[in-house]
Amino acid sequence: MLDTRELGRRPGVQREVSLSVPAPADLGIEVLRVREGAPVEIDLRLEAVLEGVLVTGSAEAELSGECARCLEPISDAIEVRFQELFLYDDQALSEEDDEVSMLEDDLLDLEPLLRDAVVLALPFRPLCRDDCPGLCPECGARLADDPDHAHEAAIDPRWASLATLQQDPQQED
Ligand SMILES: [Zn+2]
Ligand SMILES: [Zn+2]
Repeated sequence: MLDTRELGRRPGVQREVSLSVPAPADLGIEVLRVREGAPVEIDLRLEAVLEGVLVTGSAEAELSGECARCLEPISDAIEVRFQELFLYDDQALSEEDDEVSMLEDDLLDLEPLLRDAVVLALPFRPLCRDDCPGLCPECGARLADDPDHAHEAAIDPRWASLATLQQDPQQED
């Protein structure tokens, strides 16, 4: 929680803040995320406006995850930018709106904003490299390590059972 009371609710007053916070749990997606507790470096500009505080900022963190094709570990970094208007919670709102970010007693909860920005910036299918060839469908070997990898043509199990049927004498009638 960030305290915005220093701005005194005076429109036009600004403050720059830099902070390093430990990453909350589940910051990212299943296959690519900021490890819980890893530092997230945040730079913010807080600006008082008439109805609340405008937050503009960026965040940087290390990512870890795994390749969607070959499951190799991936290390990467992410930098996201965000901007959001947080309304004072004693503003008379005509109707409740869940989409609006609110200050609570002039304290600002940055976590939902950070979480949305990080998730939006991540690829759905992270890869160790753009042309990752993935795994061998037969033995699971990592094809990037062994590009000439090949197998003897194996008998498809469905054909194998047909072959057994054909040898069954009862099928000959
Ligand atoms: Zn890969
Ligand atoms: Zn193989």
